[in-house]
Amino acid sequence: MLSNSIVELDRAHLVHPVASWRGHEKAGARLLVSAKGATVTDSEGRALLDGFAGLWCVNAGYGQDHIIEAATRQLRELPYATGYFGLGSEPAARLAARLADHAPGDLNHVYFSLGGSDAVDGTVRFARHYWHSKGQPQRDQFISVMHGYHGSSTVGAGLTALPAFHAGFGVPLDWQHKISSHYAYRNPVGQDDQAIIAASVAELRAKVAEIGAERVAAFYLEPIQGSGGVLVPPKGWVAAMHSVCKELEILFVADEVITGFGRTGPMFACSEEGIVPDMMTTAKGLTSGYVPMGAIFLSDHVFQIIADGAGAATVGHGQTYSAHPVSAAVGLAALDLYENGLLDNGVKMGARLLAGLRDLADHPLVGDVRGRGMLAAVELVTDKGKKTPLPAAAFPATRIFDRAWRNRLIIRAFAQGVLGYAPPLCCTEDEIDQIVERTRLTLDQTL
Ligand code: PLP
Repeated sequence: MLSNSIVELDRAHLVHPVASWRGHEKAGARLLVSAKGATVTDSEGRALLDGFAGLWCVNAGYGQDHIIEAATRQLRELPYATGYFGLGSEPAARLAARLADHAPGDLNHVYFSLGGSDAVDGTVRFARHYWHSKGQPQRDQFISVMHGYHGSSTVGAGLTALPAFHAGFGVPLDWQHKISSHYAYRNPVGQDDQAIIAASVAELRAKVAEIGAERVAAFYLEPIQGSGGVLVPPKGWVAAMHSVCKELEILFVADEVITGFGRTGPMFACSEEGIVPDMMTTAKGLTSGYVPMGAIFLSDHVFQIIADGAGAATVGHGQTYSAHPVSAAVGLAALDLYENGLLDNGVKMGARLLAGLRDLADHPLVGDVRGRGMLAAVELVTDKGKKTPLPAAAFPATRIFDRAWRNRLIIRAFAQGVLGYAPPLCCTEDEIDQIVERTRLTLDQTL
């Protein structure tokens, strides 16, 4: 047990990310002290099933000795090496090569960032550089999708289309545009896959025409929208958007920060649609959350254009901790686990999770259940016929989260009455069944 004074230190001095600062001052934080597999233990000694893998990131599960030993070895051998000045390190080079091997198509060039937000930032800068190199510097407009999340850096937050990330910060910026989400459960065109795809294609074309095709630099999407409420597009939607971008000669960027590294089944969700993005962003499962790292994948074409355009000049993008050797060693160890059974287990457990959650459809509060692989959501409503959203004042997300916590389950409770699931891929059948059972109990207590 941690002494109360630690909770007080946290309350007094730690500014929490994406939090009500006043709310935190009042309530204080729940502190986690240890974890193993899919179970975390809080400061009151309560063992909880982590149905959200931290923040959709601990894909390999906690306490994996193979990862811990790799990090420890690397810390002893070489705890830091810059990538500047033509320097580098062995684990970073090996990881880049192994990632290129796993990536779809010719995404053969890997830039390591510190996480997802600055990976997205990097792609915006690389997209601008690409068009400068091609003699079209006027291409400075970017398009993304409503309900999308692309991080909370200044640029990424503009591509993000969730109000909490804009209010008070002066975004969106005027060079960032949005089209509607595919959000099947609440799509004005209905739930027919082909109708949704046709509407999105038409809207993307119209948006590009409105801005002027010669002004558009890139289009961003998540293969499954995560923070917007785990919105799974119809099969073929991602490929349809990709094909519009190809036809209109706009760069296509897939943000796989959540969906990468087995979260939806395969190593990368894009491969399920048979497309190769021009750039792809990843983070989270890359190091299974053990240490910070993200990665931008660039296609041969994008890499060559930028390299040729810059010639002998410096491409001025980098951070002190880019390609950090300890993070790279962790990434290599996480890949070992993914390749040797974890991805397969995730596919089996993901099917079990979705089937279990679908069994909750008979519950009076459950309007929609959706997901793919170890990524799922349950959308709560007060009237199934009318799809009336759960009123936030009567059922605040924090209360549902608290109830689940008391039932020893960690899930994400989104403000709009959506429960999010992203358990570690190492979960056992029993753990998956417990996640579903504890959800039913939480819903019964919410009624
Ligand atoms: N892109 C997507 C799709 C994300 O889900 C996230 C984070 O959840 C980010 C970018 C930002 O990543 P990070 O929090 O590592 O900066």
